Amino acid sequence: MMNGFTTTILHSDLESPIEHNSVHKPMHMAVAFGYPDARDLAKVFKGEMAGYAYGRQGNPTTAALESKITKMEAGVATACFGTGMAAIAAVFIALLRKGDHVVSSSFLFGNTNSLFGTLNELGCEISFVDATDVENVTRAVRPNTRLVFVETIANPRTQVADLARIGEYCAAHKLLYVVDNTLTTPYLYQPKRHGAGLVVNSLTKNICGHGNALGGAVTDTGLFDWTRFPNIYENYKNAKPAQWGILQIRKKGLRDVGGTLVAESAHRIAIGAETLALRMDRCSDNALKLARFFEAHPKITRVYYPGLEKHAQHRLASDWFKTYGPLMSIELADGIDCFDFLNRLKLVILSSHLGDNRTLAIPIAHTIYWEMGAERRKEMGIVDSLIRLSIGIEDYADLEADFKNALDA
Ligand SMILES: *Cc1c(COP(=O)(O)O)cnc(C)c1O
Repeated sequence: MMNGFTTTILHSDLESPIEHNSVHKPMHMAVAFGYPDARDLAKVFKGEMAGYAYGRQGNPTTAALESKITKMEAGVATACFGTGMAAIAAVFIALLRKGDHVVSSSFLFGNTNSLFGTLNELGCEISFVDATDVENVTRAVRPNTRLVFVETIANPRTQVADLARIGEYCAAHKLLYVVDNTLTTPYLYQPKRHGAGLVVNSLTKNICGHGNALGGAVTDTGLFDWTRFPNIYENYKNAKPAQWGILQIRKKGLRDVGGTLVAESAHRIAIGAETLALRMDRCSDNALKLARFFEAHPKITRVYYPGLEKHAQHRLASDWFKTYGPLMSIELADGIDCFDFLNRLKLVILSSHLGDNRTLAIPIAHTIYWEMGAERRKEMGIVDSLIRLSIGIEDYADLEADFKNALDA
């Protein structure tokens, strides 16, 4: 990336001529793509000529977004999906086979955790480890381990994975290292810096930011040597080895499963991405000030936020991330009912979702983490009074006043 982060995103579409001199890549809604020469149609199918075959596998609007995300992650190629979960599922479905083993952080987005349960039923084994220490990862690796999966900052308790040392270990052992970068976004952190081979982003969150489109992406950083990966099908080995992984993810994960990102959502996400840096700076600034406010408040017993000095990975987070992002969690003092507290908030919206322009709050054990049961919640350190906050870009004084009011009532 020669230009800065925001300049690069703003001018990405203009690198190749856009239809009718439009400054945004237009929304291409067509499902079918017609070719005047049948030989060209065949070449597109064989991958011998650039072009589009059928809307499920992509369209020019989605391709323009893929190119932006590739630049944002300093990668070599990106495949977009209809949601972040579709992107994560595509990685596993495309790359794992029965009998394979995965080492994953145990501090996981709830639906990723649930998906691992399904994979387990299908014959893959998953070891969940505390990934804040590389030692736990290395101890879990076996000869049939195909990949290591972590999130940068875990939701909801904001544990930061031992990103650099896990990356070093995976590089030394030629293991595929997959990082879910959703909570940091490529503006705060590029997992490639620490050796990630694949990076996943839920585009629904801060990258889109406005809560008006779902999307996900898988980016190949170019660091992993796919010739060492045993699960690549022979017919995808005609391409250059650097493309094997993303090609198989596109064919087996996108084409065969059909979690396609529609052009209208790709357009909205691309517009959102233009202001990602501005919004991340603003929400991170609000979040750090609020975290300090909560830390000093007698009715709050714990604040989980990597920007606070007493957070266990504060020093690492400061070294690696540009700012600490929008997500934090708080625990209320005994005797305060979390539902009553939440109901007193007037501005903050009681809602699932995160990485939105608006500040959102949710009692996590009673909602998102309900289905997994009390035992797994306990393993993950999720108590009943834990409230997850996703801080938005409102004016700070209004946010502090709303929380102060709800706490002091
Ligand atoms: C939201 C989220 C996902 C899933 O994204 P969707 O777009 O909602 O499917 C995956 N990982 C993390 C860390 C998330 O926060």
